[in-house]
Amino acid sequence: MKRPHVRFRDLRVTDPVLRKRLTDAVDTILGHGMLLFGPEVGEFEAAFAAAVGRKHAVAVSSGTDALYLALRALGIGPGDEVITTSLSWIATANAIAFTGATPVCVDIEDDLNLSPRAVERAVTPRTKAIVPVHFTGRLCDMDALAAIAQKHGLLVVEDAAQAYGAHRNGRQAGSFGQAAAFSLNPMKVLPGYGEAGVVCTDDAAMVEQLRVLLYNGTVNRETCVLTSLNFKPDTIQCAMLSIGMEYAERNILAREKIAARYTAALKDCCVCPGPDGEAERSVCYDYVIQAERRGELMAFLAEAGIEVRIKHPILMPDQPAYAGLPRQDIPVARSAVQRILSLPIYENMPDADAEYVIQNILAFSTQRRLR
Ligand SMILES: *Cc1c(COP(=O)(O)O)cnc(C)c1O
Repeated sequence: MKRPHVRFRDLRVTDPVLRKRLTDAVDTILGHGMLLFGPEVGEFEAAFAAAVGRKHAVAVSSGTDALYLALRALGIGPGDEVITTSLSWIATANAIAFTGATPVCVDIEDDLNLSPRAVERAVTPRTKAIVPVHFTGRLCDMDALAAIAQKHGLLVVEDAAQAYGAHRNGRQAGSFGQAAAFSLNPMKVLPGYGEAGVVCTDDAAMVEQLRVLLYNGTVNRETCVLTSLNFKPDTIQCAMLSIGMEYAERNILAREKIAARYTAALKDCCVCPGPDGEAERSVCYDYVIQAERRGELMAFLAEAGIEVRIKHPILMPDQPAYAGLPRQDIPVARSAVQRILSLPIYENMPDADAEYVIQNILAFSTQRRLR
């Protein structure tokens, strides 16, 4: 029998209807030729803003760029400190550092999200903003963070890259801060077909600033008033994403089904993500277990043909590029990073694959305890 191969993600578009709609959309744009600044960009932005519950959405070239531009448009720069989590994709720290500000990476809670207590402890007179990352698609404690921001006069810019569609008490991820950044790269919950990102805000002045920043700092595409680079989105990408948005709910439901299956089967053998609170929905961008003997478990799963990932094996403040940052006390993050393991999850994942993952983890755990 051929050894199974369970992919961590599968980016192929298998739904024939979706695929036809996407290629038709590309065909339309090749026909009209407005490959940049086409009408499809504005249509996508309007749909996205409505979905997130914000007045404005600005499409840009990537999620990393979205976060950088949001911070810059809010005036964050050299001399400022921006408090964020220690456990995220390095894009979060890079976007902050690229504005000239200093990322202050603090500890997390057991849910792997930014700890409000740690944020409060890290506030200094130079602190300008908090960047909560809704890690794995689970919302941070936005009430607690908003209270801290209010008390110290700080901006909140959500890194909602992993959390499109998550909500709590009727408020969508991306609707909590002064601004929010989304990534729509092909791995994300709302997958693009290449690189793309979005900045959301309710502030019209910020939108004006973003439009200048995303086109080399120019007004009227001629006069350069700010130093910036090119962060424009592609018309084709926006048109495809508008179609993709119609499938977002279906995708999230599919991920939820796999996550529920994992949790039901694995919760006694390893630490699984906790349940959503009341009136809350997480979107399972990643399904992260925490296990002792992670290295052995990974080798066992690799042997069985199962792709898993550690996201992320190096905490942001431990990256060589950030060796010069002031050290924070981050015991929870330090402990978690030794145990976290992301299991395969994606919208088209066959049930049989999820079952195979479960059976292998259970088999391993009968020999070697995972908790
Ligand atoms: C994916 C991701 C980003 C960056 O998005 P790109 O579109 O890949 O540039 C930023 N922050 C977090 C938390 C992410 O997961």
